[in-house]
Amino acid sequence: MGQEEYKELNRYLNEIFSILEKQNPVALELLGPFCEWAEIFCSISRNRRFDNLDASFCAVPFTLVYSELKQFLYSINPIYVVKLEEVLQNGMLNLGEDVESQFDSRGSFATIDIQREYTWKDAFVLIHEFFHYLNDSNTNNRDILTEGISIYFEFAFYDYLIDKKITVDFPIISNRLFSTYFLSSDFIKYSLEFLLFKEVGDLDQFSYQYISKILPFTLSKEVYSHECTYLLEKCRIVEEEYLKEYGSKNFDQKEFEETIKESFFFEYQYIMGTFLALYMRKYGSLERMVWLSENVNQPLSLTELLKKIGIEDKNPNLKMTMSKCLWEEIEKNSVPFKQR
Ligand SMILES: [Zn+2]
Repeated sequence: MGQEEYKELNRYLNEIFSILEKQNPVALELLGPFCEWAEIFCSISRNRRFDNLDASFCAVPFTLVYSELKQFLYSINPIYVVKLEEVLQNGMLNLGEDVESQFDSRGSFATIDIQREYTWKDAFVLIHEFFHYLNDSNTNNRDILTEGISIYFEFAFYDYLIDKKITVDFPIISNRLFSTYFLSSDFIKYSLEFLLFKEVGDLDQFSYQYISKILPFTLSKEVYSHECTYLLEKCRIVEEEYLKEYGSKNFDQKEFEETIKESFFFEYQYIMGTFLALYMRKYGSLERMVWLSENVNQPLSLTELLKKIGIEDKNPNLKMTMSKCLWEEIEKNSVPFKQR
């Protein structure tokens, strides 16, 4: 990449970082660990083929999905059933045939659209989005942890159904592992350049040399240059698409900031979330995760919150134990490509 292109990339990065700093300074502070976790996720999942993702799943009446979901929520807290009915009725949680599944909290109130498929997948999408609704707020900790909470409850509901001997053919665990792997693969294409920019400022053709001062990695000149090219192209595409959709006339700062975050920095939520959910499924408890969902917006530091659910983030074995949890699930839910 030439000097002019680095200049253009730095212009984008300066803008992106000023937005990320405003959006969630805590998450930006944790960029180094996020990069490491994404690398771990990718190195464990690479060259694996996940089970049954393209299978066609049995049709399940929505009344069955809904009744099991209500029973599960009732067993946690009867008030959750009232809240579920409430949110389905007031339209904040919209179950439809032709809607894109998403959670949107950008307006003055949140709406959740769910594409209904009439398989067990509906149950997992519904519980996932419902827990986002339960802890909806704009706090930094919630931003970092809400995917972990929602993913945990997908798994907990799956375990509940299996315990009840209900046949569930939708492979929620391998589906989640695969989609998080997909996101980590994108994140690692530019995350080290993000980290370099955060630590050393404007990038040039020699910045790759600094990575070993920040993380236990090395970065070759070729890979660095290739990743900078990818990142610059991604920035250009995001800008182009934003302008195509909103046009410079209707420029909306809030919408623009959300687009930047979603384009460059949302993957960490699912990467950390999947690690957290797998770890808490094995070593934590449902009670602790309910507590986390209900208290994630308390004015506590991230370290204090995690400590309350039994996670000491300074524990030197934490990374190894979490990686082992992921490794075990990947082993169970996928096969090496070669065995095909
Ligand atoms: Zn989510």
